[in-house]
Amino acid sequence: MLRPTQTGPDRPAMPPTTPPPAARPATLTALLGNSQRLDGGAMFGNAPKALWQRWITPDDHNRIPLACRCLLIEEPGGRRILCEAGIGAFFEPKYRERFGVQEAEHVLLASLAARGLTDADIDVVVLSHLHFDHAGGLLAAWAPDTPERLLFPRARFVVGREAWDRANAPHARDRASYIPALPGLLSATGRLEIVEGDTSATLGAGYRFHRSDGHTPGQLLIEIPGADGPVVFAGDLIPGAAWLHLPITMGYDRFPELLIDEKRALLTDLLARNGRVFFTHDPQIALARVAQDARGRFTAGEAWAAPEEVSL
Ligand SMILES: [Zn+2]
Repeated sequence: MLRPTQTGPDRPAMPPTTPPPAARPATLTALLGNSQRLDGGAMFGNAPKALWQRWITPDDHNRIPLACRCLLIEEPGGRRILCEAGIGAFFEPKYRERFGVQEAEHVLLASLAARGLTDADIDVVVLSHLHFDHAGGLLAAWAPDTPERLLFPRARFVVGREAWDRANAPHARDRASYIPALPGLLSATGRLEIVEGDTSATLGAGYRFHRSDGHTPGQLLIEIPGADGPVVFAGDLIPGAAWLHLPITMGYDRFPELLIDEKRALLTDLLARNGRVFFTHDPQIALARVAQDARGRFTAGEAWAAPEEVSL
């Protein structure tokens, strides 16, 4: 079930290191990272092509376009929080081709630069899980005979306990989705928070996480409060608008039935609270209000394309 993770009775609650958010709203900005083209069948699990090609048109290799979109939260006090870093450009050319990464340059750094920012301006990076298409952008672009190098020299990195453990000891089914060097690089910074509950000491009490195990164990989806309803970074629980429909899952999901139950719980909750979901992989839509059609199916209501600023 999708649930906020619980702090055990024997575990003291982590004290927030920052005060609750001020009354002024935070600004949310969708930042594009590197994009991918992946096999449409793998992205739509057990849905037949006759169905999914109505939603996203495949190319001659049966691949569909996918974004790796990050969410920048700029707080009134000046703190900048980045939700994920996308796939980045760390792959050597052979693997860049294999995984369909479209650009050789590091697109997220260009997106930050377009706002007058660099990776050194980011105070916190929140990682839903450590699959390479969510965390690869933490690394500098590939260069020959150069070891992997971590960017974001000032940022604290926030990741959930089980997602962290999984990255350190992957299962054979998803080992290829991790970057072997990344956990060691993150640990070595001394700026890593491994979250045990549903809040983060680094982020403070103003933010909480929804936990989801269906895609990968311990995925943490941050909820950002707002006067116009909350926003939840939907990660790989709901990678894009087409996956709002409950039975639609990815072939990459570890536990699809559990994922569907988690999706139902989250979307029912957000519908009741006028909530929105942020999509990292949708090629068109960055943010959508949760809605239901006449037949009770979850759909995207009011929607925002990227890149666009949204004040909460
Ligand atoms: Zn994933």
